[in-house]
Amino acid sequence: MRNLSALFACSLAVMTATASAKDAPTPAIAPAGASASHSASAPATAAQRAAAMKTITESVKGKPSVAIAPTEREKEESAEVDLSARIAARLAEMRATQAARAQARAKHAATVKAAPPPPPPVPRGTHWSYEGDSGPANWSKINVDWGKCSNGNRQSPIDIRDGMKVDLEQISFDYRPSSFNVVDNGHTVQVGVGSGNYITVQNRMFELQQFHFHRPAEDRINGKTYEMVVHLVHRDAEGKLAILAVMLERGEPQPTIQTVWNNLPLEKFDTMSPTILLDPAKLLPARRDYYTFMGSMTEPPCSEGVLWLVMKQPMQASGAQMALFSRLYPFNARPLQPANGRIIKESN
Ligand SMILES: [Zn+2]
Repeated sequence: MRNLSALFACSLAVMTATASAKDAPTPAIAPAGASASHSASAPATAAQRAAAMKTITESVKGKPSVAIAPTEREKEESAEVDLSARIAARLAEMRATQAARAQARAKHAATVKAAPPPPPPVPRGTHWSYEGDSGPANWSKINVDWGKCSNGNRQSPIDIRDGMKVDLEQISFDYRPSSFNVVDNGHTVQVGVGSGNYITVQNRMFELQQFHFHRPAEDRINGKTYEMVVHLVHRDAEGKLAILAVMLERGEPQPTIQTVWNNLPLEKFDTMSPTILLDPAKLLPARRDYYTFMGSMTEPPCSEGVLWLVMKQPMQASGAQMALFSRLYPFNARPLQPANGRIIKESN
């Protein structure tokens, strides 16, 4: 079938070519033949001959322009028409494609518009501070895991008042001279303490991990604010925290604090690890009466379930020692949190 079609197409092509070949030369030959016939039967007079010549010349002059030129023009015109048709077809095709694309774009835009807005990103920030946008009022917005900073109900610090005076057991201290390191962690000066320092309270043993400083003190005692506080952070075997707070008031220089200041690293986040030992017991006041209540960490993530032990008697540090800390941290205390009726016990 395909062969037959090909054969038919070939025949058509041959026929067309033959017809063109037959048609084209005929008008061109005709004047020559006419001329020949005229010269064969030559006119008798000069006037007749001149008239005959004029006719021949006109035929020769006029005929080719009538017979040959239209064919070429026709061909050109036909080619032009053909080209115009093809251009028009191509343009129509392009317009159709453009219209289809525009339609697809509109459809996509409509879909996007109709789709619900993506959920807001889950905050996982780590930077917090004591003032401004990253300050205490916004801690819970910085990181999804810091929700307790705003929705907890046992948060610290508090104003310690209306304590229940009872015979509180003595805290048993088992502190010893230990290796230590000092780091400025961007929020405070923190002293890491070597293992083997314990307190026992409520029949639970907590090991000292580190101590650090705040200015001013965070908890108040019956509305009174101290200039600074030392927080000694302990952890038991289950990971529960007990934080012992020792208030600092202006007075005599404190040798242990001086040892810490002597070993401050020159850069934030660098750790200084001196070869000397430090005895955390030297940070404790002579009288061991205290307040106790449940609270939280006073910095993100504000975890609750922290056992607070606040010594009633403050320790002293010199004005120069306090001024040195204030050059690094003039203000690093969380604002007071509501007590929410929690029980506060105090040594009688
Ligand atoms: Zn603290």
